[in-house]
Amino acid sequence: MRLPNTPHFRTLPVKRVVIFVGFSCMNDCRFCVAADKRAFPDKSTLEIKGELLDAYKGGARQVSFTGGECTARKDIFDLVAFARAQGFTSVQIQTNGRAFASIAFCKKMLRSGMTVLNPALHGHTATLHDDLTRSPGAFRQTVLGIHHMQKLTGGKLLISMNTVIVQQNYRHLPEIITFLLKFKVMHVQFAFVHAMGNARKFGKEIVPRKTDVMPYLKRALDIGRKRGVLVMAEAIPLCLMQGYEDCVSEFYIPTIEVRERGFIIPRFEDVRVNEAKVKFPSCRVCCSNGVCEGVWREYPEYYGSTEFKPLKSTKGFS
Ligand code: SF4
Repeated sequence: MRLPNTPHFRTLPVKRVVIFVGFSCMNDCRFCVAADKRAFPDKSTLEIKGELLDAYKGGARQVSFTGGECTARKDIFDLVAFARAQGFTSVQIQTNGRAFASIAFCKKMLRSGMTVLNPALHGHTATLHDDLTRSPGAFRQTVLGIHHMQKLTGGKLLISMNTVIVQQNYRHLPEIITFLLKFKVMHVQFAFVHAMGNARKFGKEIVPRKTDVMPYLKRALDIGRKRGVLVMAEAIPLCLMQGYEDCVSEFYIPTIEVRERGFIIPRFEDVRVNEAKVKFPSCRVCCSNGVCEGVWREYPEYYGSTEFKPLKSTKGFS
């Protein structure tokens, strides 16, 4: 078995720490995986700075701030600048993007030293995105934010877009990527919804069947590939990604240390593969079994496992 023409996460030398700064957020997405945790208090500035120092000592050179919504914190500029001063070479902001509608906010974030903007857009129209985020005006603000950041950096900032695939938007994935490409972003990821938090509450109303999604997802990936953009799909097993192995997100993820509230996961990839995801008895005879992560553990409760057929050849691998 050989891997696709992609760097596989197990071989990537980079170590990234993902810091959950707290779970406060101005959106209330229908699929938010952290919705159950909102009552927990956000971490203090001191606590986060301590985590940055620890993670750096442990070899991390990239940091990703996430939540909740990390831009909702007043100390976000201080945290970004602190991370850069410690020596982190990459400081990624995972965000709903709304705060970037303020040009003053954008300038301050750039001055603080952020290096990667990772905004989420779940629709190509205000109607779709604002309905999914349950936040009127969110689409306009996020789109304006991306526009500001592109303009302020002359298109040089690494903007990595994220779209969660759900019942309401999967038929629009080709339109969504066409819309995103207007902003000349370098990287687009489609992440299959994980049935936790609000997504768990809504169940099949929000979680689509993967085989229903695939024709639209493949069309969207084709559009991105044709434009030379790095396009990826997360949490879709290899038997559904034949011919699109170069778009499997999991092959690109570096070693990740997760700092949640009250606990640390030193190698998130181990937890993701061994606990958060699941494969099936038939996977034992699949030629991709060694590199495929399967599906989120909750998924078969909704749609079973009949969609996933063992692969017989290494077609698509090189
Ligand atoms: S059959 Fe199982 S191991 Fe093979 S690609 Fe599908 S989910 Fe992965």
